[in-house]
Amino acid sequence: MNFDFFWDKTSKSTIMNTSVKDAVKFVLPQLPYALDALYPQISEESMRYHYGKHLQAYINNLNSLIHHTPYENYSLEEIVLRSEGSIFNTAAQVWNHTFYFMQLSPFPQLLPSGELAEAIGRDFGSMENLKTEVIKASTGLFGSGWIWLVCDKRGRLAVLPLQNAGNPLTHGMTPLLAVDVWEHAYYIDYRNRRADSVGALWDRIDWARIEERMP
Ligand code: MN
Repeated sequence: MNFDFFWDKTSKSTIMNTSVKDAVKFVLPQLPYALDALYPQISEESMRYHYGKHLQAYINNLNSLIHHTPYENYSLEEIVLRSEGSIFNTAAQVWNHTFYFMQLSPFPQLLPSGELAEAIGRDFGSMENLKTEVIKASTGLFGSGWIWLVCDKRGRLAVLPLQNAGNPLTHGMTPLLAVDVWEHAYYIDYRNRRADSVGALWDRIDWARIEERMP
């Protein structure tokens, strides 16, 4: 599958290996938008914590955890697929958050088109039904985790809730959309209102990006 989002075309940022041996391997991916650009759905303060502190901390921790281990030579995706325990949790959180932030936009394409639009119609009935299912899954997930829109090997779409750092790649699914339902993702702007935060996030999802993720 296509992991181009780690090499974001607009910013040339990268979360892939740096070329210098023993240097910090993973770095914070540059966002293709400003920290205040997703307001009012997501505030600048929320981005400063979520992207600037939480994601940065996961990246720092991952660099420490893999230092002088075989994982130093793996790509981020390989670490997610081949590790467990704290290395998996940390690597998957880096992967998930990068995937999450890169699908958001100040000027999103608000509806999918083409093949993805057809698949959503076939498997959910409508975009409104898909949104309802994602919100329902977000309130149904106990504790921290992620709600994913995934495509399985037969090309069927599904909403997949996964706890903690869960990632669809380890379930043999292609992730298309990630909704972060850890409290840190919404508590500053929405306090305890998880469903409201997901409903608002919906208006910042760039479906042009989601379409690019179709297998
Ligand atoms: Mn998060």
